[in-house]
Amino acid sequence: MYSLNGKTVFAGIAIGKVELFKKEQQSVRRYNIDNVDFEIKRVSIAKEKTIAQLKALYEKALIEVGESGAMIFEIHQMMLEDQDYLDSIDNIIKSQSVNAEYAVAVTADNFANMFAAMDDEYMQARAADVKDISERLITVLKGKNDDMSQSEEPVILAADDLSPSETVQMDKSKILAFITKYGSANSHTAILARTMGIPALIGIDYDEDINGKIAVVDGINGKLIINPDNDILQKYKTKQNEEAVKKKLLNEMKGKETITKDGRKIKLYSNIGGVSDMPSVLSNDAEGIGLFRSEFLYLEKDNYPTEEEQFAVYKSVVETMAGKQVIIRTLDIGADKQIGYFNLDKEENPAMGYRAIRICLDRTEIFKTQLKALYRASAFGNVGIMFPMIISIEEVKKIKKIVEEVKSELSTIGISYSKVELGIMIETPAAVMISEELAKEVDFFSIGTNDLTQYTLAIDRQNQKLDNIYDSHHPAILKMIKMVIDNAHKHNTWVGICGELGADITLTEKFVKMGIDELSVSPNFILPLRSGIRNCNYRNV
Ligand code: PEP
Ligand code: MG
Repeated sequence: MYSLNGKTVFAGIAIGKVELFKKEQQSVRRYNIDNVDFEIKRVSIAKEKTIAQLKALYEKALIEVGESGAMIFEIHQMMLEDQDYLDSIDNIIKSQSVNAEYAVAVTADNFANMFAAMDDEYMQARAADVKDISERLITVLKGKNDDMSQSEEPVILAADDLSPSETVQMDKSKILAFITKYGSANSHTAILARTMGIPALIGIDYDEDINGKIAVVDGINGKLIINPDNDILQKYKTKQNEEAVKKKLLNEMKGKETITKDGRKIKLYSNIGGVSDMPSVLSNDAEGIGLFRSEFLYLEKDNYPTEEEQFAVYKSVVETMAGKQVIIRTLDIGADKQIGYFNLDKEENPAMGYRAIRICLDRTEIFKTQLKALYRASAFGNVGIMFPMIISIEEVKKIKKIVEEVKSELSTIGISYSKVELGIMIETPAAVMISEELAKEVDFFSIGTNDLTQYTLAIDRQNQKLDNIYDSHHPAILKMIKMVIDNAHKHNTWVGICGELGADITLTEKFVKMGIDELSVSPNFILPLRSGIRNCNYRNV
């Protein structure tokens, strides 16, 4: 037995087997199968589905880029039908009794090497195509079971680091806890772990030989214990039970009002990354959604989500919340949230670069598609929209102009929508300083303390080395929050906090006394905060 120390991202205790996550191995794993015929059948079904996808892509490209640009998808269809390619996959499955994904990956490598070695330039270029179609085929093959964990049993997943898109694609039911060597407590991956309510530690310097070993993740004390002896195991099992009892007690907060002892009501909303967080939102009795990080919708895809796709997701969340407010933040990519198909240039300083609203105001077709989907969803409940990374009044005016265009385009084609509250995130010092002017323009503010801390303290929130001085309790931040609330209230604009600081129970009474109107937190913090708010006063007594 030995233990390693790290930093807690989400407290809680997990006991289970460790599984190493290797990025290079993520896409394809090799394992033996018993039923060769079944595996070959899987390939043939996946091939048909992939061809259907390519046909749809061809049609789309034909409209968007014309015949010559669309042609490639026809070539890809032909390559997928190539008998040598298909025979190679089947032979590998039969001769090695291995899974289809592995057979496709090996075939792809072999064929790509063969094309690359040819003299003809045209044939050389087919190397990339064969890899491309194979990746597509593998994705379809993995469709049913596209998770990161290899086991059936839930595991403690150990990784060097995880990107937000890797985290968002995980099958949460198979993960007991995360541990990573690197990564920052303020990164989006850490935020996702909190939203999922999964115990998570970062900065754990583990050796690869922990793979398959039993371990305890002690998220309360930031410890990983490997091969725990019986006494320790017993101790943690007891602790786990105590946590479950505490959780049960908190359940009594369900259905109760979020109101201070002296009668001030606070909206207690939830932050989500997507539809998969909704069960947790409902079971924790959130009064609304205060931050739907819509960019995760884009991160999950390998191409721009269409208006229809987005509409379906927003509508489903709005309908699930049945009349409660759902505030969706428009696309906030850049910095640690990179999306390949956006083809963004590599930047020296991406946190201060071409990101969030800056992209939307520049590539307005992407912005308008999202706004249309959002306005269409508004007809099904109570939608709010907020805009990230605002630094000026001009930006807000431009946004409002585009919103009006979108509304009138929808009206022209007879699509109805409802009243939508418009808000902005206050997450730059500039927005704080002009908050009185900004308040005249919008219905609400949502303070993004994660970025506000980054930009005010000049500390990269991704930089693990600086985690110890990344301090959202810094007096500068607390003063800014008070200033924003006061300025907003002068113009009847309501104010919430959706950054991680909003969930800090040690500050709840302070925020209430400052006059905060809303707190939006990961679902797992809703009930503890409700209990905290019901125990504090708004006015000094
Ligand atoms: C924030 O910056 O506080 C925020 C809520 O947005 P994100 O963490 O997604 O940048
Ligand atoms: Mg932010």
